Parts: sequence; C-alpha cells; structure tokens
Amino acid sequence: MEKIVGLRCVECQKLYREDEVMYTCPACGIAGILDVEYDYDRQAKKLTREALGRAEHSLWRYLPILPIKDDARLPSLQCGWTPVMEFPQLAKRWGIANLYLKDDGRLPTGSFKDRSSCVGTTKAVELGYDTITCSSTGNAASSCAGFAANLGLKAYIFVPAHAPEAKVAQLRIFKSNVLLVEGTYDEAYYLCQDAAQAFGWYNRNCAINPYLIEGKKTSGLEAAEQLAGKIPDWVSVAVGDGCTVAGIWKGFVEMKRFGIIDKLPRLLGVQAKGAQPIFEAFVAGDEQLRPRRAETLADSIAVGQPRNQTKALRAIRASGGAMVAVEDQEILSAMYELAQHTGVFGEPAGVTGAAGLLRAISDGIVKKNETVLHIVSGNGLKDVRSAMKACPEARHIKVSLDEVRRVFEETRAA
Ligand SMILES: *Cc1c(COP(=O)(O)O)cnc(C)c1O
Ligand SMILES: [Zn+2]
Repeated sequence: MEKIVGLRCVECQKLYREDEVMYTCPACGIAGILDVEYDYDRQAKKLTREALGRAEHSLWRYLPILPIKDDARLPSLQCGWTPVMEFPQLAKRWGIANLYLKDDGRLPTGSFKDRSSCVGTTKAVELGYDTITCSSTGNAASSCAGFAANLGLKAYIFVPAHAPEAKVAQLRIFKSNVLLVEGTYDEAYYLCQDAAQAFGWYNRNCAINPYLIEGKKTSGLEAAEQLAGKIPDWVSVAVGDGCTVAGIWKGFVEMKRFGIIDKLPRLLGVQAKGAQPIFEAFVAGDEQLRPRRAETLADSIAVGQPRNQTKALRAIRASGGAMVAVEDQEILSAMYELAQHTGVFGEPAGVTGAAGLLRAISDGIVKKNETVLHIVSGNGLKDVRSAMKACPEARHIKVSLDEVRRVFEETRAA
C-alpha cells in the first residue's frame, strides 16, 4: 500500500515491508510488537481541516492513515465519531477547571474495542481470510463477533468462563463459535494463539496484530479534532494490556503532525490495584513486567500479563503523563458518581480512568486549573452485576399513595 512506509519493531527498530511480516517481528519474537508507519507527507493533503470537514462521521474519515486499502470492502456497521461532552458542574464538584467525557460506550457493541475490531475484521477480509479468532476478557470478543457478523466472517472466540453474562450473550447472538475457557484470560490468550496457527485463522489479538492499534488510535484522532483549540491538559483512560492508551496517544500525535492541533495532552493511565503490572513498571521507571494473577472486578482490564506495555509506557512517558492504580471500591464509586451527575453509564473499566482521575486530583497530580478528557471505554449495561453493587437498592412498595408519600418525604431533601 503506497500510504504505508513499513512496520517498525518497537524492540529492535527494524523497519519491515508490509508483505514481509504478519504479526510480530521475526527477530524479536513475541516482544517485537510492530508499529505501522505512514507516508505522512504524502497523506497530509488528504487530512487537512477542509478535507476533514467533508469527511463522513465515522472512523473511516481517517482512511488515509489507516492500514486498509482505499477501495477495500468496509463494514456497514457504523463505528466511530462518538460525542465529546462537557461537564463544567461536575468539574467544579471535583475541583478541576473543566471535564470532558468521550462516550465510547456508544459504539456499536458498546465498547472502545469496536474501533480495533472494525479495522481488524476489515483487514481480515482484505487479506482474504474467511475466519477470524480472538481471545478477550469480553469486549474485544463481542466487538469482533459483531463485526464478523456484519462482514460475514466466521469467528472463533476464546473467553474466560467467568466473563460477564452480557458479553457472552453478545457472542452468542452474533453467532460466533464461543469457547468458554476454564482458565484465566492469559491462558485463553495462548490457546487462541496456538489455534490460529494450527487452523490458519486470522488473529485479532491487539498484542500481536499491528493493525488493531490503528483502530484504537481513531479515538485520539477524533478527540483531537473535536477538541481542537481547547486540547485538555490530561486524557484519562483505563489500562489493561496497554494498547488503548498507546493508540489514543498515536492519534493525538498524528493530529499534531497534520497541524489540526497545536499541543498534546498528558496521559493519565489508570490500572486496577488487582492488575497493575504496567503501573508498577511505570513507578519503577522501566519497561519490565512483574506479572501476577489478575484480581479485579473491572474484567476488561483484568490482565496479569500485559503485552503492549512497551507502547503504553513509552506513550505515557512521552506525554509527560502519570499512572495511578485504584481499588475496586473506587471504581464502583466513580461509576455511580459519573452516572448520577452526567447520565453516562460506564462499565467498571469504562470508568476506571475517572476513578484514577479522582485519585490524581487528591494526590495533586492533576491540578485545580487543569482540564481533563476522560474516555468512557465501555457501556455500563455490559456488566449490570457490578453496577448494582455501585448504587443503593431500589425500594419495593405496595400500590399505595401513602407509601409513595413516605418515600417522597424521605427523599425530597436529598
Ligand atoms: C480493553 C479495555 C480497556 C483497556 O484497553 P487495553 O488495550 O487492554 O489497555 C479499557 N476499557 C475497556 C472497557 C476495555 O474493554
Ligand atoms: Zn525486532
């Protein structure tokens, strides 16, 4: 493809031609994650403010810097261009200058992963595959299954047997072949990898497939465009494997290169305390992982052995950003806090960035005069069991106006 210069290994820096490599760097193995490099000078004229002003309101507006042929068959399932909304009242309550939310819970299957699945499944079709596979804590799986259904691909999906019910329901309704693995996400991951190799399926795993982060970067591209002229000081988002935060950064950097924005935000990467290997590496000042079993109710970021830590750590550091880790309880209270003050309902990982923001504010990392964009990366309806834990129970009443009056009197002051 003329627009792609090559794929560069994050470890040895070697640049490969597109047709030379499929997943990771042949020399570095699994650690050799590749990064797609474009001919930016050539593509710049297609991404001017005028050109973008005419572009369609989906992530395909960025096709000139996506790893997909210009005449490829694209999915008809609309994906991208989610709204950025401003919440000055809540910002005031939290003690910061302004707060924006970008609600990626509105994407077609309800999570940020739709961005990578949209690009990944399109790539599978372009490469001539009829079957795609994916291992996931849930959202990557449901989005992969949804886009596979849209494009007529067969899908084999590996998820841990304890994935939230709503996510499993999505897999089944999209008619993917669901394999509920009696094991952890990490075990499901390796099994999927072996199966892809054994049976010749296209592997949609962000950890090794270099094209998926290109989908994820569209969230950063969009946010940059939507907030041009008022780029926030910080962007907060949950970190599991690390691909999301790295993708958002790539999007902002590209938009600065094209002159759409003139400053870059700092990244606030947030992990759950029960699954914090990237946070630990950040604090230690290296890229070394100390993997352990993941234990958090934020299932989408319950990753004990991340695989995109290199890209994630480099992005957060390059941005002059920070990382924090939060307790599950902080995630639940952020979920309730955000929902009751904004009407935006995020799943646990979807609001982990907000929980981290609250902690960063109280630790003095994020300052009073600063503005923040939080990416709500998943919809709350994906995991209602956690949501029910986050808020008080509803009242049962008899069919009686007196009972209603009693409730009214108890609640009117609140
Ligand atoms: C996957 C996911 C994340 C984290 O993305 P990584 O690339 O694993 O860091 C955050 N939020 C939600 C809802 C997700 O599904
Ligand atoms: Zn390499």
